[in-house]
Amino acid sequence: MEIEKDDVLLEAQNVKIHFDGKKKQKVKAVDGVNLTIKKGETFGVVGESGCGKSTFGRGLIQLLPLTEGTVKVYGKDLTKLKKAEMKEMRKKLQIIFQDPSACLNPRRNVEQILNEPFHVHGIRDKKRIRERIMELLQLVGLDEYHLSRYPHELSGGQKQRIGIARALALEPELIICDEAVSALDVSVQAQVLNLLSELKNKLGLTYFFISHNLNVVYQVSDRVGVMYLGKMVEIAPYDSLYENRLHPYTQALLSAIPQVDKAKQSERIILQGEVPSPSNPPQGCRFHTRCPRACERCRTKEPQMVEWKKGHFVYCHLYSQS
Ligand code: SF4
Repeated sequence: MEIEKDDVLLEAQNVKIHFDGKKKQKVKAVDGVNLTIKKGETFGVVGESGCGKSTFGRGLIQLLPLTEGTVKVYGKDLTKLKKAEMKEMRKKLQIIFQDPSACLNPRRNVEQILNEPFHVHGIRDKKRIRERIMELLQLVGLDEYHLSRYPHELSGGQKQRIGIARALALEPELIICDEAVSALDVSVQAQVLNLLSELKNKLGLTYFFISHNLNVVYQVSDRVGVMYLGKMVEIAPYDSLYENRLHPYTQALLSAIPQVDKAKQSERIILQGEVPSPSNPPQGCRFHTRCPRACERCRTKEPQMVEWKKGHFVYCHLYSQS
């Protein structure tokens, strides 16, 4: 998929997010990721726990500071915005968290929870806020009855709907969905995924959808990125990734998904070894310690991201000309 400049909502360049770890080692949670997100698309990102996908998502909307690199939204570099400018920008950039129980204040009822974003942004018009809250409840499939309920009185799905309503309050454009359905039962997961998809169409939203579950990512995404140990190793439109799994890591992830069409079921690839520590990633290709196709070059030379086909990028020596 070619992205026209006018369509670009967010552009991340060489994003690095490093933390201080134990024994003064730097944990390289995100280590040089480039990404462009198009207005109106759902970009899904998948990878094992600890690969840096949630950290990257938070870095994209400045909930975590970048160690290096830039993130631009409509051409504005977020890392250079003044506090007041960033506060204004924050209305456009929201997040839905994994565990709705943990992110809703148990001492506040739904009305108070949905009031928070307006309060934080200095919006005081009570009548307007009340109208907007009613609109939000309707958008997420709840009603006035739920206003006086406290989080413990709601089901997991209802709590996540409140989390979604809160994220929508200030009419955002980009929403980071951070494992937004992972804590829900499978049947509720499907309802919440449908709701997110309806809201995207109705409100023209853009999603950065993070999940460890490739099946879920496939259901919702226009493009998919596969992350491993702080790097994006493959980026492609979802149908291209489904038909052509290029990176050995993507092949292993996909081989674990049962296919309805048995002819498409590939042999299960079991990766050997543990994911290396992000404070001491392997030299060369950082997947080489687990890759069934690793050769000498993989141990010493870092691969570059190459465009294998229009819009389909892969970070692996097997596809580079040099
Ligand atoms: Fe495997 Fe080498 Fe490709 Fe890395 S560069 S994924 S080790 S084949």
